[in-house]
Amino acid sequence: MKVLLSEQQLRDGVARLADQINDHYGGKPLTIIGVLTGSIVLVADLIRQLRMPLRVGVVQASSYRGAATTPGELRIRADMLPDLKGRNVLVVDDIFDTGQTLHGLLAELKTLGPNDLRSAVLLCKEGRQQVAMLPDYVGFTIPDEFVVGYGLDYHDEHRNLPYLAVVEP
Ligand code: 5GP
Ligand code: MG
Repeated sequence: MKVLLSEQQLRDGVARLADQINDHYGGKPLTIIGVLTGSIVLVADLIRQLRMPLRVGVVQASSYRGAATTPGELRIRADMLPDLKGRNVLVVDDIFDTGQTLHGLLAELKTLGPNDLRSAVLLCKEGRQQVAMLPDYVGFTIPDEFVVGYGLDYHDEHRNLPYLAVVEP
């Protein structure tokens, strides 16, 4: 597998994200919602660089885009979410591809009455977006290739790679 982003590049990218988030929120309390499972490594690295009073929760969201399912059909398991009413909420996901997952998830979370709702992703794939939004914070823009590592999987493997790699066919 070809390395796309090294450990050092990922560290620098996460530090840049953390700086932007710290700057934006100042000392205001923040609730981070990590989207399972791909965001876990990013969440672990990111939250240790955030300086405001912080709560952390998770949500599971998956899009089924196989031939047998409706494109973009989104399943959300929200039963693990903390209370978001009146909170400043930042949803953190691994990658923004078509954007369907994050777009649908944000719409759903909005119904829970947060004071403010933003989003951050480690990666954004170039030229793939099908929704009229971009995340508020993007670590890296990458070419349209299937990537693994740093939390991202291929058939549930490779999440533990400390770098980001391209899966070659
Ligand atoms: P979207 O709804 O934006 O099209 O898809 C987002 C989800 O698709 C991500 O959270 C991730 O689970 C999966 N995904 C999209 N592109 C890739 C990729 O290159 N590698 C991996 N491992 N997952 C991807
Ligand atoms: Mg995901």
